[in-house]
Amino acid sequence: MNERQLLMIPGPISFDPAVLRAMSIPTDSHVSQEFVDLFGQVLDDMLQVFLAPHGYPFVVAGSGTLAMELGLANLVEPGNRVLVLRTGVFGERFSDIARRQGAEVDEIVAPLGEVPDVAEVEAKLASAPYKVMTATHVDTSTGVAVDVKALAALARKHGALSVVDGVCATAGMECRQEEWGVDVYLTASQKAISVPPGLALLVASERAIEAFRRRKTLVRSYYADWGKWLPIMESYRQRKAAYFGTPAVNLVYALRVSLAQILAEGMDARFRRHQRLSDGFKAAVAAMGLQQVPARPEIAATTLTAVYYPDGVGAELLKKVADEGVILAGGLHPDIKTKYFRVGHMGPAGPSDILATVGAIERSLKALGYAVELGRGVEAAQRAMGV
Ligand SMILES: *Cc1c(COP(=O)(O)O)cnc(C)c1O
Repeated sequence: MNERQLLMIPGPISFDPAVLRAMSIPTDSHVSQEFVDLFGQVLDDMLQVFLAPHGYPFVVAGSGTLAMELGLANLVEPGNRVLVLRTGVFGERFSDIARRQGAEVDEIVAPLGEVPDVAEVEAKLASAPYKVMTATHVDTSTGVAVDVKALAALARKHGALSVVDGVCATAGMECRQEEWGVDVYLTASQKAISVPPGLALLVASERAIEAFRRRKTLVRSYYADWGKWLPIMESYRQRKAAYFGTPAVNLVYALRVSLAQILAEGMDARFRRHQRLSDGFKAAVAAMGLQQVPARPEIAATTLTAVYYPDGVGAELLKKVADEGVILAGGLHPDIKTKYFRVGHMGPAGPSDILATVGAIERSLKALGYAVELGRGVEAAQRAMGV
């Protein structure tokens, strides 16, 4: 691997060197007071990043998929009804997880590039006693972002708990978990949280914890059982050692540094910065004559952009761009897998990363014979991002 390459995929992302250095510190005992204090601080900081000051934070070794399982498996019991809102491939995982728990799953599948119709969601919620409604804040396969605030309010109105996959959104796109009444908001370390892969992060509301405590059956997963993790997280928050499974000590060091950076920037400033970078990249995409997967700008994520290849160009574009030192991601959604590519712009990414990426795409498109005027995209990005 070329160490100077620019990794612009929707996770893992290019990490800040200070975060990476934190991982190389000699591993401490997971029950030393120093580590316990650090982990406790991480859990406190998480509540600020999730904007859920009274929430219940969990940090568990595993990927984002574990966070999804931790979020859903603890709230559903056999026979419970779950409504899954799908805006791409990641909703399907929620359905699979819920079915494993014995739940009865209904899905609302949005047309490709669209969000579910609010009236349809409301009618569905009113039609049966759903225990949980899930949504994917940003579906990384389509670049579509849903209106978490409106959906969580609908779920609450109809007595359902809301479980939102924020894996490609948390700490990049606005989510005010407590104010918006989101019962579980979950993510993974390697996306906008900006820490190498390996940590599942989740914050549960009081309502979600109460629903968990009222369960009549055991959670069907041993490792993902909140009953195991809740006392551990509570203990660390009181700066007392506890053990269930060994925490990923060095990743927690890195998370400590990243959360501190995120909070130093400030959540509102951070959401605005992601919006600005996204505006810049999307303006460049339009100036180069390319189309995006999300049907409308209002439903496009600010953490990544999903772009259709122009006619006559395909995955060879990614190879050419990689030769320029910029790594982009191919398609993921099965319906259009070979027809589009994805660019992540989250975490520590800045305007210069956007410009380098747009420049590499312009040069590569031109080399592949697509009629693009060099500088058009870069200029549009510059104007959209401002100074
Ligand atoms: C990346 C991603 C996941 C899966 O996370 P892993 O860490 O790969 O398990 C789930 N949901 C969304 C929206 C994602 O972007």
